[in-house]
Order: sequence, then C-alpha cells, then structure tokens
Amino acid sequence: MIASISVIGAGVTGTGTAWQLAEQGHSVLLADPSLATPIPDRPADRDLNGSTASLGVLMGHAFRRSSGRAWRLRQRSMALWPAWVEELNHPESPLHLDTPLIQLAGSADEAQRMQQLADSRLCSGLQFIANDRLDEADPVWPQAGHGAMLSERDGRVDPLLLLKALRRSLIQHNVERRATNVVELRRPGSGTRRQWRLITAEGRNESVDLVVICSALGSIQLLQSLGHQRPMDAVLGQVLELQLNRPAKPWSGWPAVLTCGGINLIPHGHDRMWIGATLEPGVNADPAATETMKRLNELAPSWLDDAQLLGQWHGLRARPRGKPAPLLEEIEPGLLLASGHYRNGVLLAPATAEWVSQHIHKELLTSP
Ligand SMILES: Cc1cc2nc3c(=O)[nH]c(=O)nc-3n(C[C@H](O)[C@H](O)[C@H](O)COP(=O)(O)OP(=O)(O)OC[C@H]3O[C@@H](n4cnc5c(N)ncnc54)[C@H](O)[C@@H]3O)c2cc1C
Repeated sequence: MIASISVIGAGVTGTGTAWQLAEQGHSVLLADPSLATPIPDRPADRDLNGSTASLGVLMGHAFRRSSGRAWRLRQRSMALWPAWVEELNHPESPLHLDTPLIQLAGSADEAQRMQQLADSRLCSGLQFIANDRLDEADPVWPQAGHGAMLSERDGRVDPLLLLKALRRSLIQHNVERRATNVVELRRPGSGTRRQWRLITAEGRNESVDLVVICSALGSIQLLQSLGHQRPMDAVLGQVLELQLNRPAKPWSGWPAVLTCGGINLIPHGHDRMWIGATLEPGVNADPAATETMKRLNELAPSWLDDAQLLGQWHGLRARPRGKPAPLLEEIEPGLLLASGHYRNGVLLAPATAEWVSQHIHKELLTSP
C-alpha cells in the first residue's frame, strides 16, 4: 500500500528516512528550512544542525552491552551500512566506510574490561591490543599505557558526503523538498480518514496520510502543539581542525578513528586532524572546553600540543530527558516520532529509517 507521507527535518535522520520511504514507492514530502542551502564542502562555524556538525563516527560493535534496544539498533545499523553506502555511492557523491576504530584504554581496569569484551566478541571483529604494540604508529598516539581495543568493522562515514549523496537520491526518487519550517501540526478531524495537516511558516496548509517528525530539538514544539510532552535537552559539541607542525608524512599505523578518553582523533589529508567532540550542556560553546579537549585531558603528546588550529565548528545534539536515546515512537495513529538521537544519530540512521518504514508498513496493513 502506498501513502502520502511528510517527513519533518532534513538532518541525517529525516533525509535517510525520506529516501527509504520513497524507495518503497510512497509519495514523500520533506520539509526543512535548511533545504534552501546546499550541503557545504566543509563545516563552517555557523548554525549547524547535528548532522552537518557531526564527525560521522560509527561505533556499533565496540559497545559494552550485548542485549537491549540500544545494542539491537547499533547492530542493525552496522548490518545495513554497507548496503546504504553501496546504493548511495555515485561519482558525483562518492561515499565509503573508513575502518577500523581503535579505543585506547585509560586505566588497567578499563583495559581488563576491553580484553574481556574483545575475547567474548571475536566474531564481531573486536581484538585487544597489548601496550607494547602501540608504539609503532607515526605520529605516536597519546600514550595511555594500558593497551587498546581494535574494532575492525567500526569506523566512520563522512557526514557531509553522506548528506550530499542522500540529497541526490531524494531527487532521483522524486521526493518533494520544501525549504520551510513546519510551525504546527493538525490531527485528522473526526470522521475523516487519516489526513494530517501541516502548517508551514508561510501559512501553507499541506494534507498527508502520515507524518514522521525527525526534527531533533525542533520536535518538542511540534509535539507540544498537539498536547504531547517529549522534553529534550540541547548538548553542544565542538570540533577542531588541526594542522600538525611537522613535515607531511603518511599516517602510518593510524586507524580511521582513534578514541582516547571519549575524544575522537580523525586523521585526514597528509598532516591534518579533526578532534572532537565536546559534551557541553546548553547551546553556548565554552572556549575552556575546547582547550581541555585539545589537550586530551592532559594526555596530549607534544605534536598535538604544538598543532596549529585551522578551524572549528559546533552543533547541537538532542538528548531526551528521562528516557534513553533515541525516541522512536508512534505518538498517535499516523504520527511517528524519530528524534532525540543524541550522540549517535549518524550511526543509527539506517536502523531508524528501517524502524519507520516497518512501522508505516504495519500501520497501512491494519488501518481500515
Ligand atoms: C559535534 C558533534 C559531533 C557528533 N559526532 C557524531 C558521530 O561521530 N557519530 C554519530 O553517530 N553522531 C554524532 N553526533 C550526533 C549526530 O550528529 C546527531 O545525533 C544526528 O545528527 C541527529 O540527526 P537528526 O537528523 O535527528 O537531527 P539534526 O541533524 O539536528 O537535524 C534536524 C533538522 O530538523 C530541522 N527542523 C527543526 N525543526 C523543524 C521544523 N519545525 N520544521 C522543519 N524542520 C525543522 C532542522 O533545521 C534540522 O535541519 C555528533 C553531534 C555533534 C554536534
């Protein structure tokens, strides 16, 4: 069965969901003011949504739990990512997954937990690396001295290339893209069959069978207009781009992502690195948090201390209050919420889109 569906929010969650729904033959309208501007080639420090500010780290396997919803969503996304990349990859929007990811242990206890996890999940590509093997990289890694865990299948996708590729696919699948803010949702009147109404900032009134809210922090207000409370808090993240003050050399021995005390170090180009991201409650960037991050909480090797700051940016994450991220819910018949992805919206984009598609499929089969 085919439906008309409006997806609100064109970050990675909404764009990925709109693409998947259109592939299944639905008639899809995607609304977001950010659709008025092309995806930039590199993040600049202006109003960035979570997706354009993201580092794109996909940490699906190096996860201490092995059951529960969060684990299942991660596993499902990691299983879907290779097919997403293959389908979205195009000469105009090349896309690939960079692997592996290495997490440095910060203490002997953490090393022991990593070793146990790696031993129990060899089939997921996890492996413990003893400390004496960590000295081979150039430039040298921040030396925690306790060993590390290698996750062969985790890594990174470039979020800006991903968004470009998704936007390209939206055009291919005739998704209607509306560069506008949705200011209000009106539920179907009694006696009418489905038909939700969206009111846009320009006063336009659109009718659709189903609505999927993927607007991160913007979801709060849309739900409030219908009497639903789903509180979420903003958590700002800052990222730095650094240039190493040393002759350009290949990054020998470096993984796609090196994680140290929760901070990701991502080498790129010959002598550059992205480092991020801070976790700052609220919407204002704190310069002191940037400094602490650059010094890796006093674990930074001298080459990192000496690195030159080339640029920096920040974005907001939506963290559900009192509930685990993400919020994947049917709020009312015909109204779905897929928001509040907090730190893992890029990682979880494929599993989120699948959850929405499956839910809509079931709803269409059972609705009168
Ligand atoms: C610095 C930083 C680094 C990160 N690194 C990673 C990482 O390495 N890996 C990872 O998986 N995640 C990472 N994240 C988290 C990830 O970016 C988010 O979880 C994810 O981007 C959420 O995507 P989204 O589409 O739900 O929300 P967003 O990308 O925030 O998009 C929401 C969109 O909704 C639109 N919108 C809002 N209200 C309305 C409305 N009323 N009408 C129409 N449109 C509306 C907004 O304009 C916006 O474009 C990072 C986040 C930050 C800030």
